Amino acid sequence: MIRTRDELEAQERVVLASYAQKSGDSEGRIHPEPKHPHRTDYQRDRARVIHSRAFRRLEYKTQVFLNGTGDHLRTRLTHTFEVANITRTIARALGLNEDLAEVIALAHDLGHPPFGHTGEETLDELMCDHGGFDHNEQSLRVVDVIELRYPKFPGLNLSHEVREGLQKHARFYESAKPGGKRTAHPSLEAQVANLADEITYYSHDLDDGLDFKLLEPKQLAGLEAWSVTEVQVRRDFPGLKGADLRAYVIRCLIDRQVADVIRTSSARIEAAGVRSADDVRAYSRPLIAYSDSLRRANVQLRKFLYKNLYYHPRVAGANKAACDMLGEVFAAYLKKPELLGEATARRMDDGGLHRTVFDYVSGMTDRYLLDEHARLFKKSRKPAAKRTAKSARRKK
Ligand code: MG
Repeated sequence: MIRTRDELEAQERVVLASYAQKSGDSEGRIHPEPKHPHRTDYQRDRARVIHSRAFRRLEYKTQVFLNGTGDHLRTRLTHTFEVANITRTIARALGLNEDLAEVIALAHDLGHPPFGHTGEETLDELMCDHGGFDHNEQSLRVVDVIELRYPKFPGLNLSHEVREGLQKHARFYESAKPGGKRTAHPSLEAQVANLADEITYYSHDLDDGLDFKLLEPKQLAGLEAWSVTEVQVRRDFPGLKGADLRAYVIRCLIDRQVADVIRTSSARIEAAGVRSADDVRAYSRPLIAYSDSLRRANVQLRKFLYKNLYYHPRVAGANKAACDMLGEVFAAYLKKPELLGEATARRMDDGGLHRTVFDYVSGMTDRYLLDEHARLFKKSRKPAAKRTAKSARRKK
């Protein structure tokens, strides 16, 4: 028996909560396309994201540690899978559209440049007179313009609700309906993917920082998010020590955050009395949230990570050296646009020189950029990632 798309859409109306975004109610795509016989629009969007080149490149982009620094440190791709997984858990528990929430999670970092936070800051400076850089806007640009997979339109031509979800922290959200209103918030599915991103990086950055010995467990004693969870784990498993203890505290920290968001959001949704996805968009505040106490703990954790991990000399030093190369490659393309590939050069008329160079460079993986730098400047450099790994091993 083959289920048709009509049947799958009808099933969503029965199974999902009233305030979930149903695929059958999508506002559609920028370039109209015939519907698929047995896949919903969001299932189709998920496939488009997974099959994109930008998605595959996430494997070789820095999350916090320069790509290649350690085999089990997170990359942008493993981060993305962790976000998608947490997103699905929260979405399913709240009766939301898991397919939609998952696509937003899978696509949320497609616009991230090489070399993590430092790469983002470098590119923002390089583009300061040309509109700056925001990785959320760039994710949208990747799926709307940069990916070239289909003969009839540029980009992946994703559904309106997925594009809405990628405009994280936007001031307002446009409707695609003729005469439709701007709204203050996106769907609950987008709000879930947004918060799942935070839950994911708080926990895995702590995990990677401890694993790579940039953070010491004793530094975390004053952090509420860590200490409350650790006390509970030590009580339940008094024999756990060292790496085993740490791994289980991280696991429980994620579980605590997810459970808190599900509980808090469910109560807020009920209190708001929203009955539809449009009610959610028009409501005065976001409905997916942490409890006040966990939000305070996470603010403290975030400050700690910025101070002690993201700008730790061993992280920032390696990333800064790589970003200097990023600046040099950027300048080389501006000076000699003929160095850009043919497909990229074709976009020059639409975007202008700076934006075209920027799109090209920001799409690069860490290792491609390092190789390109060596090629352009005819230097045989060892990739910074390998140098960092060696020096890290020496320090252990
Ligand atoms: Mg992210």
